[in-house]
Amino acid sequence: MRLITIYDNNLYDERLMSGWGFSCLVEAGDRRILFDTGGDPSILLDNMKVLGIDPASIDLVLLSHAHQDHTGGISAVIREGLSLYLPTSFPESFKGALRARGVEIIEVEKSCEISKDVYTTGELGSWIKEQSLVIAAEPGLVVITGCAHPGIVEILKYVRNEFDAKIYLVLGGFHLGERNVSRAFLELGVLKVAPSHCTGGMASAYLERAYRENFIMNGAGKVIEV
Ligand SMILES: [Zn+2]
Ligand SMILES: [Zn+2]
Repeated sequence: MRLITIYDNNLYDERLMSGWGFSCLVEAGDRRILFDTGGDPSILLDNMKVLGIDPASIDLVLLSHAHQDHTGGISAVIREGLSLYLPTSFPESFKGALRARGVEIIEVEKSCEISKDVYTTGELGSWIKEQSLVIAAEPGLVVITGCAHPGIVEILKYVRNEFDAKIYLVLGGFHLGERNVSRAFLELGVLKVAPSHCTGGMASAYLERAYRENFIMNGAGKVIEV
């Protein structure tokens, strides 16, 4: 399995462009799942080109939450018949516009399997509703978050309760600012972390100090093999 961060405000591969937002491609077996689309379709498309990813090869797309820095790039990847998983709480206007272009919208409320060994947490949170992606990989669960508005620790607690496996890796935006969640992460048994996007420099530094060789520097162009 491979995870490729295509779009991020942090740059890992100098050939790519950075932009505020997040998008990550999951390659699991022969399936390609795009998690979020960043904010700008042209940056998403250009970065995909450099990384050799054909938008037409994407089997399904999942949007974590209705913020523009995660949904704005969608026009670069939509096509007739594409399956798109999004939280039920998305604005009707957003869903309607995509349906009009032939996209198959699957509204997510509860946790469910969206592809073999790939799950959504379902809509979590009360103020800003958000779904995260959970992949049952060989070494354990891989959790991908967009902005983690429901709270990264709360999301991981939910995953621990819902899925009967240890958490191997967490990546994406954690939205922490200056908070230190290292102890909570370690207590939850999280083995590796790859924060990026909106995590916050201070929060990332705390995690880096606690996780050392299990801290993965994430950013646009980073490829993680699991
Ligand atoms: Zn964001
Ligand atoms: Zn957000």
